[in-house]
Amino acid sequence: MATIGILGGGQLARMMAIAGAPLGHRFLVVDSAEDACAAQVAPVMHADWRDFSALQQFADQIDVATFDFENVPADTAQWLTSHTCVFPNPAALAVAQDRLREKHLFAEIGLDTPAFAAVDSLDDLRTAVARIGFPAVLKTRRLGYDGKGQAILRAPEDVDAAWQALGGVPLILEGFVAFDCEVSVIGVRSRSGEFRHYPLTRNWHLGGILSASLAPVQLPDSISKRAVACARAIAGHLDYVGVFALEFFVKGEQLLGNEMAPRVHNSGHWTIEGCACSQFENHVRAVLGLPLGDTAARGFSVMLNWIGELPDANAVLAEARAHWHDYGKSPRPSRKVGHATLRADSPDEMIERLQRVGKALDRQAQIEPVIAGLAEMWNRG
Ligand code: AMP
Repeated sequence: MATIGILGGGQLARMMAIAGAPLGHRFLVVDSAEDACAAQVAPVMHADWRDFSALQQFADQIDVATFDFENVPADTAQWLTSHTCVFPNPAALAVAQDRLREKHLFAEIGLDTPAFAAVDSLDDLRTAVARIGFPAVLKTRRLGYDGKGQAILRAPEDVDAAWQALGGVPLILEGFVAFDCEVSVIGVRSRSGEFRHYPLTRNWHLGGILSASLAPVQLPDSISKRAVACARAIAGHLDYVGVFALEFFVKGEQLLGNEMAPRVHNSGHWTIEGCACSQFENHVRAVLGLPLGDTAARGFSVMLNWIGELPDANAVLAEARAHWHDYGKSPRPSRKVGHATLRADSPDEMIERLQRVGKALDRQAQIEPVIAGLAEMWNRG
């Protein structure tokens, strides 16, 4: 029996603890928030991540430390390495915390990206816009997530407003990609360097927040094999241990790297019921040095995210092969409060399930793009 320490007590920590319990392991979470939802399933130390005496107590009680949140201060992650094992390593975390370093890493391993430029002043922004053109997306290099810290620039008059909204911290300007679809690879690398990956997942966002995921997807081999090869190369390059997500835009035959998340990821939640070994269990296995589990998909899965508030659980639970996840969080606009995963043996069965659930919940806007994606990908003829 080992104790895994997790920095951050949100739903990812909660699902890690739920996945690790049957293996006989214990968890200890550290989070300053009084209402951290992992507290409902694991003990939580309420402390700031910069409180090193609390961190000392945390480190004394655990065998390995990991993260449910990538923006843990770099010096905290570094300090922990001299007191316990830390996975993923702080250097990998530092790259994935910074959109500019991430893009440089993508270029280094041969993954194309949208056009990008570092922006530290209004002059930089004007120069970058002149090179990249409109539309473009201005993003904070650090601490952005779920569409936060981003502004779209469509015309010259947007430049000053975007600078006013985001300027003052290091930024990156990216060319806006009119993509055909967004996909992610969830990869896992063990302490001994074994790499495995889940089937490619297609993702839909609403307002910058993940709305739905579908797996497995059918894309040309040239794209899916390249996406997996990039995930493998990045994991090896960073000497990464644990689960991570690599997100891409697909446009025609082009595969463009968007970002990397150095942790279990929302686009991998479907693996809880959709695979023999979920991303959460595989992360636990990886950081403890256990053999990795089977990542093959069991049929088709669609994950629907519940943002802001939960819909009617009964309408989902009434459906066969539907799984309900309530994170135990209070409702708040833009907050991820739960998700559901629907499973099916065929695309047609999945489409029928989605139609019933979409109607019962009156959520056609969330579900129709997934139905269209399924029909387009699997019933081309
Ligand atoms: P991010 O936090 O960078 O993953 O952005 C959240 C979402 O905004 C992405 O999943 C896309 O749907 C959209 N987005 C971000 N960057 C771009 C871009 N350069 N071009 C088009 N859409 C983007």
